[in-house]
Amino acid sequence: MNTSARYVIVVVAFIISIHYIVSFTHESYGRATSISNITSKFRPSSSSNSGRPDNFPAHNPDSPWIPGGNGNDTLVVDKHANATFVILARNSDLQNTVRSIREIEDRFNRRHRYPYVFLNEVPFTDEFKRRLSVLSSAKMEFGVIPREHWFQPDSIDEAKAKASRDKMVEKNIIYGGSVSYRNMCRFNSGFFFRHPLMEKYRWYWRIEPDVHFHCDINYDPFLFMETNKKVYSFTITMYEYQATIPTLWGHVMDFAKLHPEFIAHDNSLGFMSSNNGESYNLCHFWSNFEIADMEFWRGPAYTAFFEYLDKQGGFYYERWGDAPVHSIAAALFASRDQIQFFDDIGYEHNPYTHCPKNKDVWEKGRCSCDPAKSFDYDGYSCMSKWDRFIETKKKRK
Ligand code: GDP
Ligand code: MN
Repeated sequence: MNTSARYVIVVVAFIISIHYIVSFTHESYGRATSISNITSKFRPSSSSNSGRPDNFPAHNPDSPWIPGGNGNDTLVVDKHANATFVILARNSDLQNTVRSIREIEDRFNRRHRYPYVFLNEVPFTDEFKRRLSVLSSAKMEFGVIPREHWFQPDSIDEAKAKASRDKMVEKNIIYGGSVSYRNMCRFNSGFFFRHPLMEKYRWYWRIEPDVHFHCDINYDPFLFMETNKKVYSFTITMYEYQATIPTLWGHVMDFAKLHPEFIAHDNSLGFMSSNNGESYNLCHFWSNFEIADMEFWRGPAYTAFFEYLDKQGGFYYERWGDAPVHSIAAALFASRDQIQFFDDIGYEHNPYTHCPKNKDVWEKGRCSCDPAKSFDYDGYSCMSKWDRFIETKKKRK
């Protein structure tokens, strides 16, 4: 070895020993110069194409992936019902719709990725679609409602309808003068489950703009409904305004007499009437929250029922709501144990909140509502009537 080669070896050995000495004495220098760190700089980043951060891979519907967090958050759920969320909204409902979807994603759907169907009688704006699309990796579809599913039919005598609206305005009845509200109630009663975007699904969960989900939902209510052969579910039940449905019950009873074959053997008439149907106590399930089976609405009993009611014109001559229409149908055509009260789903639609009373349920659900302020046993709620109805049924069994 010549002198210069020996010189190079000494210098290299000196540099290597300095590197090791500094690596041991200065941690950050060691990390920065480690082989794995240096080679990682040359690997392509997994997020470079998607523009998402490393820990947020692009959605692949076949392999559900859930962001990390505590134990519950990392649950990956593979089993799904044939189900969708459905949201009827106006473009002007954008901000409130964003809030509702953000909450249901947080409390439930980021672990399940059920799809969303948004419906409107006019096309949703690009802004609406853009603002909603970022909230979930689940599929979102935005549909326009066919004209004949929404607008007042020609069979309605507009002069008569207007006279009735004017009277309701005089009497200060909420939405009494609104035609669009009536269109909405009729659509929700008889048409949402027939929309082309809804036809492929069996189960739906109705959500409105500006509602709140107060507790973690740590199981799948759709699968619960399916497994337990439920048809309809609710979180809040209350009295309807008599002035909006003066003739509804009479028509219901006429229909029941015409079609006794549709009345379920173990029905819930007893919840709505204390005299075997002679009069209606106005109790109904609040339909702004619903998880239900569209096969029930699409089936022969409800199809005939809706057609019969629609012919009477009460959606326009009065102001029949989809809540009493759905509720009465569920009470008459489904059996009592096909109707589910979801006590564990903390839910708020202004001005009422259902909050789980049971302390364990409330804690486990990390609920943000105050159980003391739950609507359940408010004077305007029908919950105690429902409890009593269920109790007497149980005793008779
Ligand atoms: P309330 O809950 O009875 O006070 O009635 P809302 O105003 O909340 O209406 C019920 C649902 O229908 C909500 O999801 C609204 O966004 C929706 N809605 C009401 N009116 C219209 C309308 O004219 N067009 C559309 N596209 N949606 C409507
Ligand atoms: Mn509402």
